[in-house]
Amino acid sequence: MKLICIGRNYTDHIKELENEKPTDPVVFLKPDTSILLKKQPFFIPDFSEDIHHEVEILVKINKVGKHIAKKFAHKYYDQISLGIDFTARDLQTQLKAKGLPWEKAKAFDGAAVIGEWLPKSDFKSVDDIDFSLHKNDAIVQDGNTSLMLWKIDELIEYVSKYFTLKIGDIIFTGTPAGVGKVIANDKLKGYIQDKQLFSITVK
Ligand code: ZN
Repeated sequence: MKLICIGRNYTDHIKELENEKPTDPVVFLKPDTSILLKKQPFFIPDFSEDIHHEVEILVKINKVGKHIAKKFAHKYYDQISLGIDFTARDLQTQLKAKGLPWEKAKAFDGAAVIGEWLPKSDFKSVDDIDFSLHKNDAIVQDGNTSLMLWKIDELIEYVSKYFTLKIGDIIFTGTPAGVGKVIANDKLKGYIQDKQLFSITVK
């Protein structure tokens, strides 16, 4: 399975990193080895001094598809969760400056946190889901899927032009503003509405 990640999908986050607003979604992949195993702490890797949390809504693909039209995209997923796209921001900044791929900054072991899954049917609309990240009991990021530049069904249409989507693939849909550094002993908890979907400790 693969993790398909979207960058720059919320205007307020594009502004905080002083990035350009893209004309197409920014897409990158993480391998399955980047998934942080359940109940494990996140260990800060020794190649970065600036690991950031990026909280993101996740969508799990439940049917094989390619060239999926937006109007049919809703048939290709029935579970929603929340996760973290951990990013070595110092490394990513160097790679971006040189025009190089981001994998070393985004796809390392443990860089993908995946929360507990909720049925899509729990939500009136996938385009109106509140979510938040709490760090040591302060809210550091919050967003709503209505603020995405490309909504979930549009992302499925877009990424399936390039990649065949397979059962179990997960889409990370981008982060809202409020990304920031984590340090040892931080506790990160992710919520969709008032339901906690993950809790991890940084080491
Ligand atoms: Zn991200």
